Amino acid sequence: MFKKILIANRGEIALRIQRACREMGIKAVMVYSEVDREAKYVKLADEAVCIGPAASSQSYLNMPAIISAAEVTDAEAIHPGYGFLAENADFAERVEKSGFVFIGPTPEAIRTMGDKVSAKQTMIKAGVPCVPGSEGVLPEEPKEIIRIARQIGYPVIIKAAGGGGGRGMRVVHTEAALVNAVQTTRTEAGAAFGNPAVYMEKFLENPRHIEIQVLADTHRGAVWLGERDCSMQRRHQKIIEEAPAPGIPRRVIERVGDRCASACKKIGYLGAGTFEFLFEKGEFYFIEMNTRVQVEHPVTELVTGIDIVQMQIRIAAGEKLPFTQRQIEGRGHAIECRVNAEDPYRFTPSPGRVTTWHMPGGPGVRVDSHVYANYAVPPNYDSMIGKIIVHADTREQALARMRTALSETIVEGIQTNIPLHSELMVDAKFVEGGTSIHYLEKWLAQRRR
Ligand code: ADP
Repeated sequence: MFKKILIANRGEIALRIQRACREMGIKAVMVYSEVDREAKYVKLADEAVCIGPAASSQSYLNMPAIISAAEVTDAEAIHPGYGFLAENADFAERVEKSGFVFIGPTPEAIRTMGDKVSAKQTMIKAGVPCVPGSEGVLPEEPKEIIRIARQIGYPVIIKAAGGGGGRGMRVVHTEAALVNAVQTTRTEAGAAFGNPAVYMEKFLENPRHIEIQVLADTHRGAVWLGERDCSMQRRHQKIIEEAPAPGIPRRVIERVGDRCASACKKIGYLGAGTFEFLFEKGEFYFIEMNTRVQVEHPVTELVTGIDIVQMQIRIAAGEKLPFTQRQIEGRGHAIECRVNAEDPYRFTPSPGRVTTWHMPGGPGVRVDSHVYANYAVPPNYDSMIGKIIVHADTREQALARMRTALSETIVEGIQTNIPLHSELMVDAKFVEGGTSIHYLEKWLAQRRR
């Protein structure tokens, strides 16, 4: 096992990984930007290295600074967390070339999955169900594009091969709008992602977002840890996640889960990963794979009892998965609410000094956050400042537990989206379960009136 790991991230996930290291007796080196100097997890670290000014481009995205921090502290491995450099194949490559272990899949796997067209082709080959669409990148010829769209059937969605974060997509309802839409998406994709390639898919009108968590080791072992329902989204950003997904028969989930685990073996995947699917009318359609730990990993940890971050570290150190698929059992129901520093009605960011930070507790309540009273939320990064996660025997009990937890939560000095979560936890449709990815946006549109 490693003696020392460098954590190339900040905020709640940096603290989460630090905790995993501590429990495993591994020293954690934290890197931080000038604006994160006062953060408690930095102060409490075994070692900490300042890697640059607040701007991410000069700190958390600064590859040479991070690698030299690993060199001066004699770290053996680097954990990238999520966001920042976590899905940057060049970073993974530089980490390994510099003689460190990258805690994640190989650079090749990151590269393949980072390009949506090659990811989809790989998944089709590996037997994972995908959204019907063009075979690869769309050709130049307008006639060909029209033919492909007719074959798929309207509405279709044009997506950038290099897209991410919900950007680089355009829905087309009629043939008249098609060729123009393809052109515009190409131009935008070229400017935004440096890659103008686009492809086409059938646009699913009312799907749910269901994803499968996997773990794969260097000994050809691969398992899936159940699913998460992340359909409650605003602007393609998840805000509530739960496990298991309400109302989907186990055998339907098992079929797709087994496909994901076997795909991992076929492509030589390594570490933790997530297969994201749209789910409509009983069918799963792969949309993308995330080659890292996800924000919502705790709901899976609570129902399976498996520490995903510790597993990532063990796998990177060459250990064998300590369980087989049959030994993995989901127990009860877990729900996560992402706490964002933002106006709960207008969603404008609300950074600043937290004066009161009173978090909930009690049985089955977990809070993952780096925030504390008198902490200043910097304006430079993502607005997510923590997660409240609950676990109970049934979904109904988990909902009740979350309502109680939210009612105990007091944050002052900045605005948070806690009031939004409280409203949603009593919303009849959400309580019923199985809402689509458009539900929250529609709900918000009515709420404003
Ligand atoms: P990104 O990497 O930008 O997150 P995804 O491929 O994961 O891109 O898609 C983001 C979101 O866009 C999905 O969660 C879904 O809401 C919507 N979307 C993508 N593809 C389709 C599709 N074929 N039909 C309907 N919605 C889609």
